[in-house]
Amino acid sequence: MRDLHNALKLRELYILKGLGYRYTDMEISEIEPEVCELPESMEALREMVQECHLCELSKTRRKVVFGEGDTNASVMFVGEGPGAMEDSTGRPFVGRSGELLTKMIENVLHIPRRSVYIANIVKCRPPLNRVPTTSEAIVCRPYLMKQIDIVSPSLIVTLGATAYRYLTDDETPVGKVRGNIIRHRGMTILPTYHPSYLLRNPSAKREAYSDLLKVAEFLSNS
Ligand code: URA
Repeated sequence: MRDLHNALKLRELYILKGLGYRYTDMEISEIEPEVCELPESMEALREMVQECHLCELSKTRRKVVFGEGDTNASVMFVGEGPGAMEDSTGRPFVGRSGELLTKMIENVLHIPRRSVYIANIVKCRPPLNRVPTTSEAIVCRPYLMKQIDIVSPSLIVTLGATAYRYLTDDETPVGKVRGNIIRHRGMTILPTYHPSYLLRNPSAKREAYSDLLKVAEFLSNS
């Protein structure tokens, strides 16, 4: 899987950058492509990710938060990374923002939470809930891309800036792109606010509600 291959190489470059290199002509070690193959089944992928130690987050995590839901879901929700509750339970979106996300799914889309698939950009909790670094996000991204590949959802709802940025490589603020249907590398993406932003800014719930109505409309037409 070339994505993981590239992510591993990039990680080496980030390590060199962290050591103070601005330029290097060092050989980046050749990683055998077959070592980088990602499994085709969700369970095999989960087992692989449980053992992942590719970034610093693995040192402080309690549990890997792989993702959960229907592997045939037509809609997938992607968040940023696990918080404290997720880290201790190993499940995505189970804290306060998870409660709100569940309500958004069940009360606006009128489908059970278990019928969607939920994952994050990074699978391990960033200490003190900081935003994942670019290197952490990029090293972890191939796992998410494989999950997307397996689920093959008709729509991906990105929650907040980090999810949108690392799925599209676009740094436009969420407030400017939310509610739009964006096609990128074979994915259909609808960005909206992160539930934790909505908890801090309840007045944005109206916009998130209208985004979710678009999700419902998209799903009913697909
Ligand atoms: N915030 C996220 O982005 N993901 C979770 O799983 C929980 C909180």
